[in-house]
Amino acid sequence: KWETVEFSDRKDELGQMALNFNEMNTRLKSMFDTQEQFVANASHELKTPLAVIKSYVRLMERQGKINPEVMEESLETINDETDRMHRLIQQMLTLVSIEKGERFTFEQVSLRPLLKQASKSIALAFDRTIALDMVEQEITIVGDQEKLKQLVYILLDNAQKYSEAAIMLRLKQTATEAIIEVEDKGEGLSEQDQLAIFDRFYRVDKARARETGGTGLGLTIAKAIVDQHDGRIEVASTLGKGTTFRIFLPF
Ligand code: ADP
Repeated sequence: KWETVEFSDRKDELGQMALNFNEMNTRLKSMFDTQEQFVANASHELKTPLAVIKSYVRLMERQGKINPEVMEESLETINDETDRMHRLIQQMLTLVSIEKGERFTFEQVSLRPLLKQASKSIALAFDRTIALDMVEQEITIVGDQEKLKQLVYILLDNAQKYSEAAIMLRLKQTATEAIIEVEDKGEGLSEQDQLAIFDRFYRVDKARARETGGTGLGLTIAKAIVDQHDGRIEVASTLGKGTTFRIFLPF
């Protein structure tokens, strides 16, 4: 129950306590609502592959023995869907752990070598060109090396998934922060989608995301990593032209 305390029009100590209590109450309620929403969304996401698996098991029961093609198709689908569930669970656990700030090790991190290495890995893995444009001098911030790499991987992986042309990775700085930019000349995002892409499980095209294996958690994880570094992440995009993600990390 989320009842408010009624003394808040009083100017004395009790009134102040009531105000504080009500504010805490509102915050707690919103935390529980978010948690509840997460559990509801997560169950929904897991139910879909489960339902598909179940229906193919039924199909195999009925026709598998007499029709080897049905058998083969069913096994393949069940395999894909279990992989999908595995990926979803893995990413949900990652997200919860990062949001709680678990297993972060903060140390001095040099961004140039980190970006070089990340771009090389993604370029090799997907046979893509990633152009690098980095300031000459070394830029060092206090951060978690592995989590920052994961963050850059998520953005580069999305860039290669949603665009055909070359990808650009930039490193700049201002007096107070380092700026990492990932730019692609791909399909872009509508203004409405730009507002929602950092939300959990949000995908622009759900049907296609099922094919590409997208969970809609990548950018949520990216934002959670940035938040743990007291930074911010922004998106600028034009439909049909391309997208730029910009990360600001304070020194
Ligand atoms: P997913 O696992 O589906 O890639 P993300 O959270 O990483 O989940 O991204 C959410 C959605 O944002 C994606 O489904 C995709 O439609 C859109 N998106 C992300 N990056 C880009 C990009 N570089 N260009 C166009 N759309 C993108």
